[in-house]
Amino acid sequence: MLVVMKNDATEEQVQAVIKEIEKMGYRGVPMPGALRTAVCILGNKGSIDAARLLAIDGVKEAIPVTKPYKLVSRETHPDATVITIGGIKIGGGEPIVMAGPCAVETEEQAITIANIVKKAGGKVFRGGAFKPRTSPYSFQGLGEKGLKILDKVRKETGLLIITEATDTDNLPLVEKYSDIIQIGARNMQNYSLLRLAGQAKKPVLLKRGMAATIEEWLMAAEYIMSEGNTKVILCERGIRTFADNTRNTLDLSAIPAIKEASHLPIIIDPSHAAGRRDYVISLSRGAIAVGADGLLIEVHNDPAHALSDGVQSLYPQQFEQLMKETKRLKEYL
Ligand code: PEP
Ligand code: MN
Repeated sequence: MLVVMKNDATEEQVQAVIKEIEKMGYRGVPMPGALRTAVCILGNKGSIDAARLLAIDGVKEAIPVTKPYKLVSRETHPDATVITIGGIKIGGGEPIVMAGPCAVETEEQAITIANIVKKAGGKVFRGGAFKPRTSPYSFQGLGEKGLKILDKVRKETGLLIITEATDTDNLPLVEKYSDIIQIGARNMQNYSLLRLAGQAKKPVLLKRGMAATIEEWLMAAEYIMSEGNTKVILCERGIRTFADNTRNTLDLSAIPAIKEASHLPIIIDPSHAAGRRDYVISLSRGAIAVGADGLLIEVHNDPAHALSDGVQSLYPQQFEQLMKETKRLKEYL
């Protein structure tokens, strides 16, 4: 249930509502909006005695929430969430581009690619230091050394940093060095990791699991938000289907589905969806046309020798072309 406060409701009245909800044995989470505050009730299994809440001064109405997810839902938060990090807005209309190699390999490699990303207009540098690899024999990432290289990239280029936390042990370290914590597809339902990310002070980019429905994905986001972290960015990166022409199948319909169900921003990762660089530009065009809030792109200065995901990494020139095309496309929308 959502308790909607009157426009002129005071902070004391909001607190009185939260206290009453706690007396009922549930949690009340305030959701400030542009025009009015609402309080979302969490933890109830059955119906709630709305009369007890409607009797409190400042309460306008009590609306039942029909979805299993609450904090991520549009029903509880009609305005789209805009996440601001260091002056850069995610979800604010202008699509943001996050780009870089799959993995941080060396300082020289990371700085070289970061300069390419920056020059072309990218705002966030991506690069894994902890890599979730299908094979235990594949390159697993540089660990903390990789994070320190990312820190240098930020200092030298001014780009924001996104990098993946693969478990609860490395999440605090990732939080320390990054601007955005990435949770990968393989970990979308790692609930202890989600809860810890929910306690972090940095925004979290939550990738869709490769076999997850939209509802399962939103429930995973709910885990993060229920711990207090309201800065969640969703990322569609392709799902498993019978189609074998691409590594995964990019679900562009996730964009309108998420926009309808949730207030959270959604970005598209065409690199992991396609698994081949020659499809990445066209899929990016599609993503922007359908209304994505941004893109997550793999780009490498020497893809043939990349330690991971070289076949799907764009050449620098292709990345520049992608940036020009998506910018032009946006002007028509
Ligand atoms: C990545 O972004 O490099 C990655 C491992 O992605 P995903 O979790 O989507 O497979
Ligand atoms: Mn990758």
